[in-house]
Amino acid sequence: MTKTSDTYDIEITLQTLKYATRQLVAELDLERVVFHGISTIADFSSSRNLSLLLLNDDGKTVSVIGAMIDGNYKTDTSQIPIKNTPLADVLDTKQPAEYHCLRKSNFPIPTFNIFSKNRKCTCLPLVGTGNKVIGFINYEHHPNIEITRNHEEIFTVITTLIAAAIENARLFQMATIDGLTGLYVRRFFDIRLQEEITRLKRVDSELAIIVYDIDHFKNINDTYGHQQGDIILKELAEILKAAVRKDIDIPCRYGGEELVLILPGTDLEGAIVLGERIRKRCEDYQFSSLSGNKIHTTISGGIAAVNSKTVKTKDDFFQQADKKLYEAKQSGRNRIRF
Ligand code: GH3
Ligand code: MG
Ligand code: MG
Repeated sequence: MTKTSDTYDIEITLQTLKYATRQLVAELDLERVVFHGISTIADFSSSRNLSLLLLNDDGKTVSVIGAMIDGNYKTDTSQIPIKNTPLADVLDTKQPAEYHCLRKSNFPIPTFNIFSKNRKCTCLPLVGTGNKVIGFINYEHHPNIEITRNHEEIFTVITTLIAAAIENARLFQMATIDGLTGLYVRRFFDIRLQEEITRLKRVDSELAIIVYDIDHFKNINDTYGHQQGDIILKELAEILKAAVRKDIDIPCRYGGEELVLILPGTDLEGAIVLGERIRKRCEDYQFSSLSGNKIHTTISGGIAAVNSKTVKTKDDFFQQADKKLYEAKQSGRNRIRF
């Protein structure tokens, strides 16, 4: 059977749709959802200039979460008020609409004013659960380009999918990330450590954990107040996040002021180097102060490491590190034991 241009178009469209659906459904990381979302709309609109905006809790402003400028993907953090802009209208109607195009920091947003006769901006609402608009995708195009009815339907399918994936990623983030420190919560630690141990039984590798506890933290709270204590926890978490390998190591808040790192593929020597580096950075760091006093603190750490031959249960493994942490405390604090 010879293929007509129409059936060829449908086949390509369905293939692209299938690929985009799989990417978006499989993704729990908000940044990557936004990237896939923008890329998919870029594919279908043939536009090289797009922006994805999410409505903020105040309901009055949007944040630019990601953008494509001349075909290059960019992340951004600027905020835009929506009052008296086309965004307010699309928020209301929940329907895609075409406007003039404003280039704000180079990414396109819809405007009522004519800045250029050569460019238009279509604004697609991202409609999520409860039929609420959670954001917008804008794409720039030539004024002569007419959108077909089929294209409109496809955009509705994709933007619904993107909205669901964004909501999913946000829920996942809320369930797994600690609000104060931005580290993974205890429950996530338990699940991920078990996964790494199970993996170690199948694949010949190494695994280490480092348990940290702030020294005399009660004193800091008692002297400078709980709020100051919270600042220290937050900044210490940043030291940890900056020191580990992104997307490989897993920094968690085990409980109150106990932080723990899961280090896949890391042996004892590697864990000692990292453990010591973080301890030293904390020792040298001057924490932000509410009182004007210079705030310093130290941490103690315990390390446990196993490989595929010496692997043990999750609880025994954690206890091994915790015992070493206890030894570090007993022998004078501000040190690592292994
Ligand atoms: P050590 O060197 O033996 O660890 O002494 P410590 O004072 O740190 O140990 P202790 O377990 O007696 O005290 C832990 C303190 O951590 C008590 C608690 O109020 C504080 N803490 C736990 N979670 C938080 C938090 O989220 N914010 C603040 N500000 N303090 C917290
Ligand atoms: Mg403690
Ligand atoms: Mg402590």
